[in-house]
Amino acid sequence: MTAAPKHQKAKALKPNSKRPAKELCSECGLCDTHYIHYVKTACAFLNQQIPTLETQTHGRSRDLDKEDDLYFGVHQQMMAARKIEPIPGAQWTGIVSTIAIEMLEQGLVEGVVCVQNTPEDRFQPMPIIARTRAEILAAKVNKPTLSPNLSILEQIAESGLKKLLVIGVGCQIQALRAVEKELGLEQLYVLGTPCTDNVTRAGLQKFLETTSRSPETVVYYEFMQDFNVHFKHEDGSTELVPFFGLNTKELKDVFAPSCLSCFDYVNSLADLVVGYMGAPFGWQWIVVRNDRGQQMLDLVNNAIETQAVMSKGDRTAAVQQSIPAYDKAVTLPMWVAKIMGVVIDKIGPKGLEYARFSIDSHFTRNYLFTKRNYPEKLEQHVPEFAKKIVDRYKLPE
Ligand code: FAD
Ligand code: SF4
Repeated sequence: MTAAPKHQKAKALKPNSKRPAKELCSECGLCDTHYIHYVKTACAFLNQQIPTLETQTHGRSRDLDKEDDLYFGVHQQMMAARKIEPIPGAQWTGIVSTIAIEMLEQGLVEGVVCVQNTPEDRFQPMPIIARTRAEILAAKVNKPTLSPNLSILEQIAESGLKKLLVIGVGCQIQALRAVEKELGLEQLYVLGTPCTDNVTRAGLQKFLETTSRSPETVVYYEFMQDFNVHFKHEDGSTELVPFFGLNTKELKDVFAPSCLSCFDYVNSLADLVVGYMGAPFGWQWIVVRNDRGQQMLDLVNNAIETQAVMSKGDRTAAVQQSIPAYDKAVTLPMWVAKIMGVVIDKIGPKGLEYARFSIDSHFTRNYLFTKRNYPEKLEQHVPEFAKKIVDRYKLPE
């Protein structure tokens, strides 16, 4: 008889008990399972190890002297894409759900880790292992809240699944990669999305109530490349709120501390990343990191149209101005915010330059947050690529 793996002796934490990463915990779900045994090395907020895990996953870590690697991580190619026939109700055009369905139906995997919502609340995440097209489709659209995707890890061993696709955001995928070898899988595919500014369910309520004209009817929202937040409502109408008109004072504390100290916006450890921020308005942005990622994308070649990535404008002055504005929680009158939004949309950064704008503004903000609140963590927690980006700007003390 072979001995049970060491981690099976560890005890999962109870739902409301304190997590090892304390207030920095992103509720990734690892500590809800006996894989908590590995938390000290696996948790993205206790042990930043992106370069090591990049080498484990992609065969090399990013080259800090190459601009595209520095910003977007290890990759073989990037492109803009959209479904020829979008999935109604998906976050964008449904490329993520479509790839997951193809992988399942063509037999590359036996199950897909994805996030549905609870029956009572459309924004309360409910991670599952989907085994049918209908279960994958029921997980479409972002649940814009911290989601314990890894809480299903114990179910993987119990179910006997050997080939698995996991869909997830950066902090979930970092912990997953750290315990990947312990899962007993023959094949693991990872389909990631970028992620930033996530919130707890209570934080989401505050954001909706502070920002939308009708918080209870919002079914979807996104911070879009035209510098507006787009809220879609139950009746199909779209509400636009300019970024520069957000009530920064009220919203400063809304984002989860984990997200204010995160430097893995682009999901460095996924095989394939599907977001929007490096693509023109209306298109999705695809980053193929390795051969597994290319294999996944090839499955949907006939269902998508693509174009080359483009880059226009210069983000640097806008990023530099955003640093003290955020720090002092400046909120502009709505009419000024609207005019600013229109002007910046016309002359501002586009395509990959918009993605760099977003990365620079988040990294500078998060560096300041970490330095002020967790000075003892700063050196180890901030990856070298992020330090190199932050060094390009003047930061207040
Ligand atoms: P769909 O086909 O609608 O599928 C969405 C998938 O997301 C589902 O499979 C579901 O399982 C998964 N999912 C939903 N909620 C969560 C969650 N909380 N945690 C983990 N997985 C989840 N892209 C950018 O370019 N810039 C950003 O700043 C950015 N922020 C994001 C923040 C969050 C919290 C999330 C979940 C995604 C973010 N994205 C961002 C990705 C983007 O919004 C779309 O999810 C992506 O382009 C896929 O769109 P789709 O239509 O193909 O997805
Ligand atoms: Fe545990 Fe994940 Fe929270 Fe870290 S982020 S303490 S691994 S649940």
